[in-house]
Amino acid sequence: MAIYAMTGGATGIGAAIKQQLRDAGHELIVVDIKDADILADLSTTEGRDSAVAGIIERSPHGLDGFVACAGLGPAAPAPLLLQVNYFGAKATLEGLREHLAKKQGSAVLIGSNSGAMPHFDQAKIDAMLADDEAHACALAEKSNHGQLAYLSSKRAITQWMRRNATAFARAGVRLNAVAPGFTQTPLTDAAKADPELAQSMAQFERSIPLGRAGQPEDIANAVGFLLSEQSAFVQGSVLFVDGGSDAMIRPDQF
Ligand code: NAD
Repeated sequence: MAIYAMTGGATGIGAAIKQQLRDAGHELIVVDIKDADILADLSTTEGRDSAVAGIIERSPHGLDGFVACAGLGPAAPAPLLLQVNYFGAKATLEGLREHLAKKQGSAVLIGSNSGAMPHFDQAKIDAMLADDEAHACALAEKSNHGQLAYLSSKRAITQWMRRNATAFARAGVRLNAVAPGFTQTPLTDAAKADPELAQSMAQFERSIPLGRAGQPEDIANAVGFLLSEQSAFVQGSVLFVDGGSDAMIRPDQF
């Protein structure tokens, strides 16, 4: 049996990943702001550091895999979105790289199919990729646009993954992303309840080619594949699990 760690296991997609890994008999260390083995707020430097230290302490011989799943949706405040979705994910992935290398582990981050869409804020993305958290958050505060901050955070973390996949490979660690589409979770429930987002969310949900929203288990199945030996030669990939939305919107790009 393997030993894994993850962030964001309390609800939604993360809770489904947690259940599948534990049902399969694996050991799993969960970091979250609530209901977790390690309570940590990934929007802060202290929270990120204590998450990484706590995982390493509980898995002294290394990790077989790590899933950076914690994230906030477009209804959250714009600066907080960048802090959790980009800087929190990046800090935990970087902080655990050497630890994953001890067991030739697999790291998976949860991006989004929205990260591939043509709407984003390049200035925020540049600040994130330059690791300038203060500037990225100041830009987000100024524009105060949750949806744009969300799309930009997911695009940036996916670009970060692509830029780092080679270095991770050389260090003996696999690194890939799952890009979910509209999935029924507390995150999308909150967005649907937000008057400014409700209409576009409903429209997007209705447009899914396979005719239904994703369920957390759909996404967990893909994460399970990327953690497993079945994906031993997969590196730097973005696996869209979105009922066909990305292929519908960007048919000629892959
Ligand atoms: P969710 O709200 O159910 O889960 C998010 C998890 O992250 C929760 O357990 C929450 O407690 C945790 N979290 C939030 N802020 C945190 C913080 N500061 N520190 C530590 N943990 C924190 O939402 P979900 O839909 O299951 O989202 C999981 C991931 O999937 C997110 O990264 C999200 O962006 C991504 N995603 C979701 C969808 C969707 O349609 N639901 C689509 C694409 C991508």
